[in-house]
Amino acid sequence: MHKIYSQLLHNGTRFLNNGGTIIYANNGTIIDVLAGQQLADAQIVDGLLCPGFINAHCHLELSYLQDVIPQKTGLVEFINHINTKRNLFTEEFIHEKIITAEQQMIDNGIVAVGDISNTNYTIAQKQKRNLQYHTFVEVAGVLDSIAANRFADAQQLLQQFAALHNSSIVPHAPYSVSKQLMQHVNNTSTNFPISMHNQECQAEDDLIRNGVGEFIPFLENITKQQFKAIAHNKSSLDYTLPQLHNKQSVLLVHNTFTQKADVINAKKNIAFAIANGNHQQLFWVTCPKANLYIEGKLPEIYNCLAIENQTICIGTDSLASNNCLSVYHEILCMQQQYAVFSTEELLQFATSNGAAALQMPHLGQISKGFTPGILHICNWVLKEEMPIQPIIKRVI
Ligand SMILES: [Zn+2]
Repeated sequence: MHKIYSQLLHNGTRFLNNGGTIIYANNGTIIDVLAGQQLADAQIVDGLLCPGFINAHCHLELSYLQDVIPQKTGLVEFINHINTKRNLFTEEFIHEKIITAEQQMIDNGIVAVGDISNTNYTIAQKQKRNLQYHTFVEVAGVLDSIAANRFADAQQLLQQFAALHNSSIVPHAPYSVSKQLMQHVNNTSTNFPISMHNQECQAEDDLIRNGVGEFIPFLENITKQQFKAIAHNKSSLDYTLPQLHNKQSVLLVHNTFTQKADVINAKKNIAFAIANGNHQQLFWVTCPKANLYIEGKLPEIYNCLAIENQTICIGTDSLASNNCLSVYHEILCMQQQYAVFSTEELLQFATSNGAAALQMPHLGQISKGFTPGILHICNWVLKEEMPIQPIIKRVI
């Protein structure tokens, strides 16, 4: 049994008044938390104690593309770069980069990851169980004619990851998944978390609302045929979210171009689902540093999400669109760019909200019975002042 005390203690939802003592077992289980109390035999530390961080959106398999893709090209160019450059590297190099990227997450205080996989490249590393994962096996395919085949391929990949930990098949994005493929995902994801890249660029809404824009030549290039786009007269999110109605938690990732009306409508959609006995939950995953890397802009809806009392979690995206995999640096970026959220809220996004999104109920909170991992950020002294160069140590 161990006891550690700091005057600055965030338990995953809030700062405790005058800190407190955490009592925990050798295996990391929290035995008790004594708010405001400094036990005589506790180890006393300066700095912040908080639960391990949850990275709700990553692509570990893309770690080999660090420093390869130019910044601020916009999403369509970014995807083109990924598609042309992904075959230029050896499997050995790809695996090496996965190992170092995972170690970077561990060093940065991350304990669990919602990881997108299109391949089985990360299997060998995930087998080591250095971190806890929920693998999101991603499907894409804009033609209904290939939906069954694409889904069957994803199911095969899913079996490999599901042997290790909870995993689910998820749609890549509204612009890249046909209605039939979305139906397959919906039918098989009951009670699982699923994630979807949402409104990461303006072209997505142009395509779905008006059937025009930058995605038309992109999709024609991929499908090698003329692409008949349908104008749905709805935003991408208004069109897509009602297609997922099977008791899933839905993690909407990026939301860089999401509008206030989308948030209001999404909220109504979920309220309607719940009223009909469909226990759906919605999580807004933000990856601000990747948004700055790809689009050169941050989501405009942070304010609205706060007002509408929506649940926000944090993702790092991949090293293809970020210089590091650190949940801390994502919330630091949010604090530097926006005054919307307090550090108390940002730490909640980075811990308990992410654990709820990934359905990992033992993580994210320093509370009795949890095994969240305890972080000690030694040079975080005042609540509202996040150190620019944090020293993050793992207590356990
Ligand atoms: Zn992503």
